[in-house]
Parts: sequence; C-alpha cells; structure tokens
Amino acid sequence: MSELRSDARALSARLLVFFWFFATSVITIGFVFRDPTFDNRLLLVGSVLPVADAVFGGARALHSVTVSIALLAIVMIVTKRGSGRRKTLLGLPIGMFLHLVFDAAWNDTETFWWPVTGLGFSDAGVPIVDRGWVSFALEAFGLAGCVWLWRRNHLGDAECLRQFLSDGRLDAVPDRAV
Ligand SMILES: [Zn+2]
Repeated sequence: MSELRSDARALSARLLVFFWFFATSVITIGFVFRDPTFDNRLLLVGSVLPVADAVFGGARALHSVTVSIALLAIVMIVTKRGSGRRKTLLGLPIGMFLHLVFDAAWNDTETFWWPVTGLGFSDAGVPIVDRGWVSFALEAFGLAGCVWLWRRNHLGDAECLRQFLSDGRLDAVPDRAV
C-alpha cells in the first residue's frame, strides 16, 4: 500500500515539469527565428512529448536526439518546401529537440545517442525530474514564462485564443531595449 503511494508520488513528480518546456521552446524559437508567422502549436506538443517516456519509468527513445533528427528528416521529405504543411509539422521535431536541450538530456549519453551507441537504455530516469527541487525551481520559472506569454498574446481574450488555435502564431520576443 505504501509502495503504491510512493509510486503515485513519483509519477506526479514526473508529470510536474511542463511549463518549463512550453516557455523555453516558444521563447527560444521567438529569438532564433524572429518569425511572427511561426506555427507554435506542434512546437508546444513536441516540447512535452518526451515526458511520455515517464510511462516506461525513465528516459527512452523520445529522449534520443536521433529520433528528433529522423522525424525532422521525414517532415522534410514528405512535405514541399515553403508549404504551410511543412511549416506546421516542423514544430514537432523542433519542439522535441528543444525538450532535450532544456532537459539537459545529453548528460545521459547512452540514451541521447540511442540507438547509435547501442540498443540499450541507461535507465537513468527522466532527466529533469530526477533533479528534485531543481525541477520545482525550473517549473516556477516556466510557469512565469507561460503567464507572460499568455498575457502578452492576450490569450485570455476568446478571439485572440481562437486566432492562436487556428494559426499558432505567438509574439514571443520581448521588445528590445532602446
Ligand atoms: Zn525529458
């Protein structure tokens, strides 16, 4: 019974970190591309998709950079250059890749390069959730970032939210200091 309870606690700790990945992905892409037409919808999905590895009790294939790169290649192959579909789909592998960056997933070499370095996983746990209080601090930053993005893009307004859900555009770059 107590084992069950500690399992539930471990699981809820794993489910904790989402906002950190949402905020860092959207803000990074805002700074890197400075493209107001970037579609952030699948970026947001991709940024937390690797969290699903928690189901297996630790970092698995979704925490491998090989998988992000393969997915990116598939999107480039199956979509036309400059097409709206490519623009939308690209968010997914980019989001997954940024998850690895902001999860410091490269610390776990065996999983990060899977299957290049071998088919096994190191069983090192899901990187960021194994850092205890650090996860709480990161998630607090992430939540603040998400609140900032939400307000800046007026997503509390039904019309603005509807617009975002239809084109995925977000203004994610702070105004530059004069
Ligand atoms: Zn992760």
